[in-house]
Formats: sequence, structure tokens, C-alpha cells
Amino acid sequence: HKPSLKSAFHLLSDLEDAGYESHIVGGAVRDIVLGRPMGDIDIATSATPQQVMSIFNHVIPIGIDHGTVMVRYQSHSFEVTTYRTEDGYTDFRHPDEVAFVNSIQEDLSRRDFTINAMAMKQSGDIIDPFQGKKDLSRQIIRAVGDAHTRFNEDPLRMMRAIRFASQLQFEVTDEVRQAIYNQASLLTHIAVERITVEFEKLMAGEGYQNGIHLCYTLGVFSYLPIFSENKSLQMTVPKHNLFGFAQLITYYHEQTPAVSLIKWVKDWKLSNRVKREAFSLHYALTEYKQHGQVTLWLAYQLPEQLSGAFIQVLKALGYPVKKEGFTEVSAMLPIHSRDELSFQAKDLIQSFPNVAKGSWISEGMKKIEYAVVTKQLSNKYEHIKEWVDKWNPPASN
Ligand code: ATP
Ligand code: MG
Repeated sequence: HKPSLKSAFHLLSDLEDAGYESHIVGGAVRDIVLGRPMGDIDIATSATPQQVMSIFNHVIPIGIDHGTVMVRYQSHSFEVTTYRTEDGYTDFRHPDEVAFVNSIQEDLSRRDFTINAMAMKQSGDIIDPFQGKKDLSRQIIRAVGDAHTRFNEDPLRMMRAIRFASQLQFEVTDEVRQAIYNQASLLTHIAVERITVEFEKLMAGEGYQNGIHLCYTLGVFSYLPIFSENKSLQMTVPKHNLFGFAQLITYYHEQTPAVSLIKWVKDWKLSNRVKREAFSLHYALTEYKQHGQVTLWLAYQLPEQLSGAFIQVLKALGYPVKKEGFTEVSAMLPIHSRDELSFQAKDLIQSFPNVAKGSWISEGMKKIEYAVVTKQLSNKYEHIKEWVDKWNPPASN
């Protein structure tokens, strides 16, 4: 879904009409100023969650304790959060206390970087107490307040600094650099899933090479799963962006096969979907390397929605490949799934009426499937039947 600035401004009007201050805040303001595509549009308001709920019809309380509700408005979703600050992070995870505050200025002061600490009013005016706009034009990532303190409160901000540097191709300030260098070990307190989100964005950023370099030189890698134990992986720089963890781990596994895909999935707490995708990519890569090209079998086996990801992995590894090459091979496929075979398991069983059922059936079907896909055999019943009749009777087991 595409964020709608127009709807966001309407939503601000409704809040203002009801007597509450409201602003677009954070990443959306940054991206508007930069003229870059926006992610989600977040809104900060003086209204309490209850007050927000009384104004709009479709409100989902997603984080009432933190003052956040999701408002469905003109078929768009907006996170609307009451002005707040956060105090004390004794567990490095959640603030001990969330305090609601009276002004947008105070709300902005809890935010991580100056470029993320701007607010936009319905009039279009920008509230920018930390000179975020200036830092945007100077292309720097600067902490709001003292970087050491802010990273100590929430060590994830160190990962975020590097991911914004990569996404925006900005530099981090010397203070931020020093604070990360001194406190990188605090990352061990952060839930891996949260680090995964930031690392994925880092690797997808235009400036990922600089991002990797920062992770290396500032010692961040020493506290990231797997990288911490593999110095050589820390210095491995993909030749192309990798947009997603399946691609990432397929790539790194290729560089260091001793670390299994399963270990990546476990240590980085990746989802089953990512795991499945990584295995598909890995098998495709094995086939590719064996034949030195995209084969019919490869194109048949790889789920279509992973073809882009596969090309990325090949490019990252330095293979000269083009999307068109893949599309061309796909277009030549005689069948796209086993259902399309004109010879099915029942036909195979009938060809050997005296053999008890067993694993030979699925093995036989695989053989037929492979022969048809790779065009050694046409997908005609009689041709396949003729071929199968020449087989030695399979041993049942
Ligand atoms: P993206 O475009 O990738 O979503 P973003 O800046 O919107 O980037 P989010 O993670 O969506 O990042 O967070 C929204 C805003 O909340 C940030 O711009 C920042 O102001 C604030 N924020 C998020 N995470 C933190 C944090 N760990 N510490 C302080 N402020 C944060
Ligand atoms: Mg965002």
C-alpha cells in the first residue's frame, strides 16, 4: 500500500478541528524534505488514545501503553501517537516509563537522530528544534543530544545510525562514530529480531558498502550473530545489493559454506518463509554453477517470484547475468508444474502391474519430469509410455 500524504493532511485537519495539535513526524518528514519515496506516515498528537478513538471510526489500539493507535482513514493506515517521552532503559529494551508530555518539542527530543526529529504541521511548516534540515543538507547522521547517552539508552540506535548512513548515503558524525566504537558491545542486549530488521535495510541501501565498512571498522560485527565468529565474512562485500535475508544468507553461505543455512536461520531467528526461500535460492545456485548457465531445470524449479532474488545473488557473487536471460529460458519451458505432465503416477503404476508400490514411483516420476522439462522427451503420453516401457522393472521397496 502506498502512503498518502493527502489523507495524512486530512487526518491532521480532523484532529485540529477537534481541538488537538497534530503533526506528521519522523521518517516521513525526513523523506518529504529529501524528496525521496516515503515509508509509513506517522502522526504525533496532543490527543490521548481515547480522544483519538472518539474522533475516528476505525481505530485499532496497537500500543495503548505507549500511546499509539492505528487509524484507518480514507483506506490508508496511520500510526497516531500521543506526545510522549521515554525514561530509563534499565533492560535496554523497553523504557521503564513512558510519560505523556505536552509539547511536540519534547516528543521530538526522544527521537534518535536529528534528521528523524522533525515535525510537519498541517500548514506545511516544519518544526525542527535540532537542526535536522541542516543535517539533511549536510548529509550527516547526528544523534539528538549526546550520542553516548542515547546509544546507552537504546543500543539498537547504533544499528539504525549505520542503516540510515547506508540508505541515505550519508556520513555519521564523529561523535556517533566514537559512541558506536565505544559501546558496540551493548548490542548483545538487543533482541536479534530487531537487529535483523535494521541489518536487512542496511544491506538494501544504496550505500551498503559503506554500511558494511562501518560495521567492520566500528566493531559492530563483533556483536552480530555469525559475523562475530567469522572475521572473513566481516570483510566480504557483495558486488550488488541484496534486498532480503534469503538472498543475504544464500550469498554468505556461498562465501563461507562451513556456516550452514540452518545456522543462519537459527542464529538470526529468521522466519520459515525466509528459510524456504534461501533453500530454493541455494539449490538454484548449485544448478547454475554446475552448468554455468540458467538451465531449463533451474527455471522450472525456482519459484517464479524468486527469480529477481536469484539474479541479485548471482550479481552479488560476480556472475554476469541479466534478468532477460532468465526470462528467455523460462519462456521455453515445456511445462510449469508436475500437474502438466501428460503421464501421471497412475500411468506409471499401470506400466508395471506386477511391482508392488514403493518409492520407485516417486523416483520414476521425478525422472520423467526431468526428462520432459529438459526436453529430452516430449510431453506426449505415447512418447513417455514408450520410454517407460524400456525401463527395467523397478525393484519395489
Ligand atoms: P523508515 O523510512 O525506514 O521507516 P523511519 O525513520 O520512519 O524510517 P521507523 O523505525 O519507522 O524509522 O521509526 C519512526 C520514527 O520513530 C523515527 O523516524 C524516529 O523519529 C523514531 N524512532 C524509531 N526508532 C527509534 C529508536 N530506537 N530510538 C529513538 N527514536 C526512534
Ligand atoms: Mg517509518
